[in-house]
Amino acid sequence: MKVDGGCHCGRVRFEAEVDPAKVLICHCTDCQTLSGAAFRTVVRVPVNAFNLLSGEPKKYVKQAESGNRMVQALCGDCGSPVYGSHLDRPTYFGIRVATLRQRDALPPKLQIWCRSANP
Ligand SMILES: [Zn+2]
Ligand SMILES: [Zn+2]
Repeated sequence: MKVDGGCHCGRVRFEAEVDPAKVLICHCTDCQTLSGAAFRTVVRVPVNAFNLLSGEPKKYVKQAESGNRMVQALCGDCGSPVYGSHLDRPTYFGIRVATLRQRDALPPKLQIWCRSANP
């Protein structure tokens, strides 16, 4: 499914080809803090299915428990989270579904990190 979206102020815009079966809710504590919400809805797409149209996201890098360095890409102006990925040789982008114009057509299909879910 072809989708497009961007940050709240409109500086960062992108389009992507997503598989609606790969929409998930992440309950990890990073997603809670970084989204400011009880959980975050994400869809994973291969790197080559993501096309940045305008703006260069700011990249916040954090070390995961696994030792992997993860990028949180966000708009440097309005702060909207746009996607997450591995820093080194990323193969997937985890697009923040709330940035997509077509989000109403992308209900989540599974939930992960349920042990840290906010009650
Ligand atoms: Zn913005
Ligand atoms: Zn998460």
